[in-house]
Amino acid sequence: MTASTCPCGSGKTFAACCAPLHEGIAAATAEALMRSRYSAYVLGNEPYLLATWHADTRPASLDLAIQSPKPTWLGLDVKRHTVTGTDSAVVEFVARLRHGGGRAERLHETSRFVRENGQWFYVDGDIA
Ligand SMILES: [Zn+2]
Repeated sequence: MTASTCPCGSGKTFAACCAPLHEGIAAATAEALMRSRYSAYVLGNEPYLLATWHADTRPASLDLAIQSPKPTWLGLDVKRHTVTGTDSAVVEFVARLRHGGGRAERLHETSRFVRENGQWFYVDGDIA
């Protein structure tokens, strides 16, 4: 896994990109956190997704392990990263995925992030 390209599409290796965040290193920016969350969806890392979800909006569970059909994540394209305050930012992205044998779908979302105690959290998002 360490030598492979990061699922988030940064072009870096997983070890040099999202892996340290999954291991508990704080994301430097909301975009880095968003990318690491996409990688976590690809890898089925539900504990990381819940840990980086703001407590006010976090679901109890994502049930990734029992999701059926499981989505196949095809790629991520970060469109925009805008810092909106000292500890807030929005990231607009398009993720491509497929459910089972279905056709590829686009998930176009503008997500809100906040930083608390030096740690970025996903709050919520608007689907375009
Ligand atoms: Zn990455």
